[in-house]
Amino acid sequence: MNQKTIGIEQFTEEESRIIKNKYVQIIRASAIEDPLRRKKIRKAFDFALNAHQGMRRKSGEPYILHPMEVALIATKDIGLKTTSIICALLHDVVEDTEYTIKDIEGLFGKKVAKIVDGLTKISGIFSQSDSLQAENFRKILLTLADDVRVILIKLADRLHNMRTLESMSHEKQMKISSETSILYAPLAHRLGLFTIKSEMEDLVLKYKNPDAYRIINEKLEYTQFDRNVFITKFIQPIKRKLSAEDLHYKILYRNKSISSIWQKMQNKKVDFEQVYDLFAVRIILESELKDEKLVCWKTYSAITDIYIPKHDRFRDWISVPKANGYEALHTTVMSKSGKWVEVQIRSTRMDEIAEKGYAAHWKYKGKTKTDGGLDEWLSKIRELLQNPDSDALDFLDDFKLNLFSDEIYVFTPKGEIKTMPTHSTVIDFAFTIHSHIGQKAIGAKINNQLVPLNHQLNSGDQVEILTSSKQIPKEEWMGWATTARAKSKIKNALKAERKTLITKGKETFLELCKKNNLDCNESLLKELNKFAGIQDESELFVRVAKNTFTADDLMEFMKFHRDQNRWIKYLNPFSRKPKVEDKTLSNEIRTQLSKKPDGLLLSKKYDHAQVNIAQCCKPIPGDDVIGFIEKDSVITIHRTICATASDLMSKYGNNIIKAKWREKGDLQFLTGIRIYGNDKFGLIKEIINILTGEMGINIRSFSIQTNQDLFDGQATLYVSDINQLNHIINKLYQVQGIDKIYRID
Ligand code: MN
Repeated sequence: MNQKTIGIEQFTEEESRIIKNKYVQIIRASAIEDPLRRKKIRKAFDFALNAHQGMRRKSGEPYILHPMEVALIATKDIGLKTTSIICALLHDVVEDTEYTIKDIEGLFGKKVAKIVDGLTKISGIFSQSDSLQAENFRKILLTLADDVRVILIKLADRLHNMRTLESMSHEKQMKISSETSILYAPLAHRLGLFTIKSEMEDLVLKYKNPDAYRIINEKLEYTQFDRNVFITKFIQPIKRKLSAEDLHYKILYRNKSISSIWQKMQNKKVDFEQVYDLFAVRIILESELKDEKLVCWKTYSAITDIYIPKHDRFRDWISVPKANGYEALHTTVMSKSGKWVEVQIRSTRMDEIAEKGYAAHWKYKGKTKTDGGLDEWLSKIRELLQNPDSDALDFLDDFKLNLFSDEIYVFTPKGEIKTMPTHSTVIDFAFTIHSHIGQKAIGAKINNQLVPLNHQLNSGDQVEILTSSKQIPKEEWMGWATTARAKSKIKNALKAERKTLITKGKETFLELCKKNNLDCNESLLKELNKFAGIQDESELFVRVAKNTFTADDLMEFMKFHRDQNRWIKYLNPFSRKPKVEDKTLSNEIRTQLSKKPDGLLLSKKYDHAQVNIAQCCKPIPGDDVIGFIEKDSVITIHRTICATASDLMSKYGNNIIKAKWREKGDLQFLTGIRIYGNDKFGLIKEIINILTGEMGINIRSFSIQTNQDLFDGQATLYVSDINQLNHIINKLYQVQGIDKIYRID
């Protein structure tokens, strides 16, 4: 290889200084002392520096800073060492420069080459313009089967791309944020990478809902001092007690992340003031491996001597760790000032796993009894991925299902413990034990009571699956199963079952034809399918096999067939269907906007496209919006914070287009508000007066419910934009008795 080395002198003085500092940071964070390993990292750095020479990122920064940041995240936040640091430094070399995997292998060996190859393939997948994101993600996960480090480095790469999203176009920002919120953050969560997951979620919020992000951030800064005072008072007696017990510990606390505050505010419909001071105190104990459980319980005992615990909020994740490897004791106690505080108790080892996840878990592997969770999960994922029949989008949905759910613990008759997602049913459990047991299951005995297959399991249940050799998998099981594993097994079993039915039904059908002197040709089958309203050709045979299409039906068909000129058009199930007028709110909005709304600005290219307003989030002028190209080139306008839109964007990221509201539109948009308050005489009249009298708002509907003193009202209004809506809300807040107003999404 002809390699001309150009070093750091290609940069300005300031840039050189930044690069040198970054390098020192990486080495320090890695805590690698061995000179040989340090030399290897240096070699990778020099190589990457040279390979990316002259290249800059969109922001104008030297390109080399990107792989360096990825290496820093990989070692600092994930705890990865030499090989991974090298791979992180080299991760974009093959994709962006003329060097090949062969060159990497020659210089850095097989292992590094393989990981870099995996990372390159992932980027290759993502740059193809019209392939499905879901299929891509599946391919990414496939690399899990080779080396988890590929995914871990990819997560570091994604985090740095999120940090530097500022310089990208708005569409790119939305696409990358959506992928991150739907795919990468849950994956980080599942791999136990708490730090990375929260930063990703915060950054997603920053781009998807900049106002909420800014406001919460400002309020957090503003209230920091009060929180510090509170926490100092809270931990003082704990410190005294733990020191007296001769325990070695660290007490840490951190604010809730901006995104989790936002989520709480949304889910519970509460204000910042009601959630901002919920924070968790962490007590981290130094101890020998063999004593760690003991010291954690000792600490629990000490704390509950001082503060009263909330009895239903105690969690023991030490005896049975979470599936992502998390271990700790959690308790929520009442502080002296009357506020509940969550306290998490764990050892240094447990803390490292809680923060850094998989890599840290790996480091301690084999040294503790409990190393089931993560590895078991990874092997399940591999199994799912290796199933050639599973469809990519289905897979993605199932996968997400498995990523987000919490867990319960269920026992086998022999007392073996199995971790299952919450809401798992008997059928899920049966397939967890063995697919043969799943297929033959007819019910279960839980704690000695008989229960059906769709019975939902609870933590602590001891479950004995009852089977029958005559049982075959049923269609309705798909609706009962919740785990990806059970669903994919049932799907496969049903497919196989259907094949058998088709063969059997075909035989019977041919016999039937023979008996009735019918020639079983294509045109007969076509007419028959039409007659029975069947679209899928093989369905007829299935019905025959299941006895839902019998000899009688055939006779009836023949009778009609004779008179078909007169009758058949009335029998065709596809001929006419009455048009149902849908009078829903969103439909009205859609009709109103179906002729490209004046208020909306799209690129010239879409001048003649049909534009719809999304029913899920009902954007109005002033909202941050994006356009999404549906099938048949219909464009739907969603709010950027819409969950449905996020999901769509992560799957079909290339269909996003920029959309903006014009400053002033003459159109009126339907929107809804909900008003809570104390019911007092004249309240409704006052609200109506403000809306119609003072503000001249056109009210479409207004409904109220009262319950003793509580008032719960709902109004749909025509407004011109978000400013007018906010104005309305502010005005209504001035009415005495009104507590809470929020927009209905
Ligand atoms: Mn990269």
